[in-house]
Amino acid sequence: MARLCTLASGSKGNSTYISAGSGDIIVDAGISYKSFVTALECAGGDISKLQAIAITHTHTDHIKGLKTFLKNVKIPVIASELTLKYLCENNWLPPDTKLIAADNGVTIGDIKIDFFATSHDAEGSGGYVVNFSDGRRAAVCTDLGVMTDDIRQKLYGCNAVVIESNHDVDMLQHGPYPAHLKLRILSEEGHLSNNACATELPQLLKSGTTRIILGHLSEENNTPLLARSAAKTMLSQIGAQEGIDYILETAKQKTVGVTVF
Ligand SMILES: [Zn+2]
Ligand SMILES: [Zn+2]
Repeated sequence: MARLCTLASGSKGNSTYISAGSGDIIVDAGISYKSFVTALECAGGDISKLQAIAITHTHTDHIKGLKTFLKNVKIPVIASELTLKYLCENNWLPPDTKLIAADNGVTIGDIKIDFFATSHDAEGSGGYVVNFSDGRRAAVCTDLGVMTDDIRQKLYGCNAVVIESNHDVDMLQHGPYPAHLKLRILSEEGHLSNNACATELPQLLKSGTTRIILGHLSEENNTPLLARSAAKTMLSQIGAQEGIDYILETAKQKTVGVTVF
């Protein structure tokens, strides 16, 4: 049995725990170490089994707990070369931290981790596919800006995928954010909207993905109901039914989400 647990998801902090029993991986440390420990416990995780932490990009909501995390948990940091360079130069890593460049893939024990680049506005930004030795695969794919064929190829066939469903375009456009921030979020270096996410789901389901976790939902410009509704509408167009053909979750900012795959 493998589990993907969103410990926190959204602009106030992100962290995901992926476990297949033989070895566990954390993606991102955007919450305090204290919150991380509580959330991991809630998810049934064991700190002593963590093999590595993979960092998607250098925005605060993905790294703010990293330094304290690494002072307490001595495991390697996996990230793109550009992200590692930023983390080193800006003093985010304790001096004895083992660094592993993710760009061409990484093997940790019997877990293989693939990296894919994203067009988000942080240098070296990307996402991960975690491949366990029994063939199970899970992906974390948020802070996208835009979906690309390269990313699609990486996601297809994964058992479980966290995919960004950041905002409802109408809510964002009519919401309180200043114009420059709206433009940034809507741009190809920003975040994926509910509709842009939903459009990807039928093909993802056809490729074999049955666990879909909508992630990085905006608290100001989205609701779990709107994100779910956009996803379900697109999936129903290929005759897919929730609970029979797929499981659909929305990751929360403050509550742990557990998906078995
Ligand atoms: Zn983010
Ligand atoms: Zn970001």
